[in-house]
Amino acid sequence: MPEDPVRELAELVESLSEWLRYQRRLGRLGLPGAKAAALAPDKEGTAEKIPTLEEIREKMGQCKRCQLYSGAKSLVFGEGSPHARLMFIGEAPGAEEDLQGRPFVGKAGQLLTRMLDKLVIRREEVYITNVVKSRPPGNRDPEPAEIEACLPFLKMQIAAIRPQVIVTLGKIATQALLGTKEPITKIRGQWQRYDQIRVMPTFHPSYLDRFPQERKKTWEDMQRVMEYLAEHED
Ligand code: SF4
Repeated sequence: MPEDPVRELAELVESLSEWLRYQRRLGRLGLPGAKAAALAPDKEGTAEKIPTLEEIREKMGQCKRCQLYSGAKSLVFGEGSPHARLMFIGEAPGAEEDLQGRPFVGKAGQLLTRMLDKLVIRREEVYITNVVKSRPPGNRDPEPAEIEACLPFLKMQIAAIRPQVIVTLGKIATQALLGTKEPITKIRGQWQRYDQIRVMPTFHPSYLDRFPQERKKTWEDMQRVMEYLAEHED
């Protein structure tokens, strides 16, 4: 055990921030990267246009594909750069997100924004969304049928953005995207793949809010993500 874990974490964060500022000055961490219009081969091998984020949102309409629509004020689609190299996926909107119609703006969102600040990343540079787009009543976990109904839209968002790295925040997002039952405590911090895209599972900010002693692990995960992005600049 370190003698003073809080101090050690503060020093770790400061040295990481300093390194990121240095990389930024070198021009190595411009997160948005322009991409060509996305085309995917269909079964016949001809190119099929991948819908844009606007087209996906339009396709969802006043979505009633699962029961969550009935208790929600908004459909929280997601926000950020359509060309983001880094994408964050949480599980579901909470009360504040439902009110504002924006992802990660409540208490957990503030923690995520603070973490991005420390990483010298602006929210507009990344893309942030959730597995389900409507708030589950009482902030309960989304049910399997609700995840199944909403997941195709998340997959379309990923196909439209084609980020280099996806960070899944917490158990629900990690298990839904990767189709695994592995507990987050086991899989966290280990690179995974979704459709050839690197995925870093880590803890959800609301978990880190309850267990601040675990923040160091998420910092280490994010450090690996940032190193990968710095090494794989387009
Ligand atoms: S959670 Fe997703 S599938 Fe369910 S109503 Fe909302 S947008 Fe539609």
